[in-house]
Amino acid sequence: MKLREFEGKRVFAEAGIPVPRGRVIRPGDEPGDLDEFGDEVVLKAQVDVGGRGKAGGVVICPTAEAPARAGDLFGTTIRGLPVTEILVEERLPIVHEYYCAVMVDRSTSQPVVLFAEAGGVEIEETAKNDPDRVRRVGISPLLSGLPPFAVRDLVGAAPKALAPIVSALYRAFLANDAILAEINPLAILEDGRVMAVDAKVIVDDNALARQGIAQNRDLSEREREAERHGFSYVELDGDVGVVGNGAGLTMATLDLIEHYGLRAANFLDVGGGADRERVAHAVRLLALSPGVRVIIVNLLGGITRCDEVALGIVDAGVRQRIIVRMAGTNEEEGRAILGEHGYEMYGSMDEAVAAAAGGTR
Ligand code: GDP
Ligand code: MN
Repeated sequence: MKLREFEGKRVFAEAGIPVPRGRVIRPGDEPGDLDEFGDEVVLKAQVDVGGRGKAGGVVICPTAEAPARAGDLFGTTIRGLPVTEILVEERLPIVHEYYCAVMVDRSTSQPVVLFAEAGGVEIEETAKNDPDRVRRVGISPLLSGLPPFAVRDLVGAAPKALAPIVSALYRAFLANDAILAEINPLAILEDGRVMAVDAKVIVDDNALARQGIAQNRDLSEREREAERHGFSYVELDGDVGVVGNGAGLTMATLDLIEHYGLRAANFLDVGGGADRERVAHAVRLLALSPGVRVIIVNLLGGITRCDEVALGIVDAGVRQRIIVRMAGTNEEEGRAILGEHGYEMYGSMDEAVAAAAGGTR
């Protein structure tokens, strides 16, 4: 789950990383006295997208104009997202912007720390066109902190004051079960102080309970519903819904869908021993996902009984076309129930997916 900038900055502050003084305001709030922040402030839209600066989500203005400018900002959307929270901060005299981040490197399955002397809003361009300007050091997950040599390699000839920030960012990354902790820009101010001007922290969804986060804000209504029922559920952007039992069978179905040139809208693993009611819930949930044109149910009857599955499909009563592949326990009974209600059923998953593909041509 992505933390908002002000939440990320709280996490940073707890790890000993200096952050600007600031306060969050919401529409209708009386902004109160902002003079404590000096003559000029920065208004920052707290939306879950990068590149807010370039999209008009970061406004620098005289403090006296801040309430009016905040009012304008509340009325806008930044890259399609409505602005419902603004972080008001002191405006800082920045002399240089660095980039520092810790993330999980999927190819090595370990954390990697990144540092660049040229941070700021152009970092993506720099990383793409001039990747050598971003220094990277992989860190063994067995270590509980950054070894001094790693910090030296990362910071290089940049000011020494940055070194403790890099170490603190790594500690914050570990302590918060993050998959990403990024400071961009990590700023050096006129008076030589170092400051995290922006914060991006993504907490591993599997660690939310341990982090005391009760609800994953990033989940859609349907994903939350799936979580309540204990389904593994993922939304994609095609038009074929997929219900399977077991991760292997579900993934194999997705591969076949790809093979036949179709695109999955979502997939749901009902798990073992799904009964009539669970199957009905699963099918209804999938059918709610926008853009689902056809649903492929691919279930293997072991402890799951095909007749229960068939009844669940009939109960769901969704408007989309449903193509079923079932094999195993009580297959004949299941086939009879589906046949009675006019559903399509196939004995092999290849035939089932081919039928879905055929239907579109
Ligand atoms: P992002 O575009 O979503 O990454 O938002 P940032 O928080 O990184 O802000 C974008 C840019 O605004 C930064 O790279 C800075 O150059 C500038 N900026 C933000 N806060 C301040 C500030 O307090 N002082 C100055 N001078 N510039 C700031
Ligand atoms: Mn930024």
